[in-house]
Amino acid sequence: MLKAFLFDMDGVLFDSMPGHAVAWVKAVERYGLSMTAEEVYMNEGRTGAGTINALAQRTWGRDATADEIRDIYAAKSEAFNSYFLAKGEAPVMPGVADVLNNVRARGLMRVIVTGSGQHSLLDNLNRHFPGMFSPEFMVTAFDVKQGKPFPEPYLMGLKKAGISAGEAIVVENAPLGVQAAKAAGIFTVAVNTGPLPDSALWDAGADKVYADMRALLEDLDNLLA
Ligand code: CA
Repeated sequence: MLKAFLFDMDGVLFDSMPGHAVAWVKAVERYGLSMTAEEVYMNEGRTGAGTINALAQRTWGRDATADEIRDIYAAKSEAFNSYFLAKGEAPVMPGVADVLNNVRARGLMRVIVTGSGQHSLLDNLNRHFPGMFSPEFMVTAFDVKQGKPFPEPYLMGLKKAGISAGEAIVVENAPLGVQAAKAAGIFTVAVNTGPLPDSALWDAGADKVYADMRALLEDLDNLLA
């Protein structure tokens, strides 16, 4: 019996990943680390600290210090905000409002499970989708010890909603996000809104892969049947 949809945020609700890619590449370079745009997409879903530690291990052979993590993540957030300041803001993913309205009309709960700790994006949710999400049904970087690809964020999403894995469907766009959801035992739909091949999502364990949110909407009746 389906009770809830658990939505990832970046790359699912907002077309914000191009900004994250530019911001990460630019910010880590200032601190003597390096990351390609493709690596940003492959690491999508990790917490900021998790990503920074992986880069620090690769270049420095050690984890980043708490100060380094704070500074680099602040530089990344600033670069992200200035990227979208020039364009207005991160746009809503095409088709997402229809998917959300459809899910709500079916009486299903909407839960957010994101690795993001950027307040601007969290504020955007309420502005763009008023009444659609409630703060007690949100899992962010502030709630978990181990971010995606660990199952903790999705397990916490289930817990907050008071449901079991078999009563939920996850919508993700990133390989590590799919891995996290599958590790939590949840049926996982991937929307491939970025530059990676579909195989990256299938290989991560996705149960379905759609080209975008519109394609998911068109297949929703079929999916729920
Ligand atoms: Ca994502």
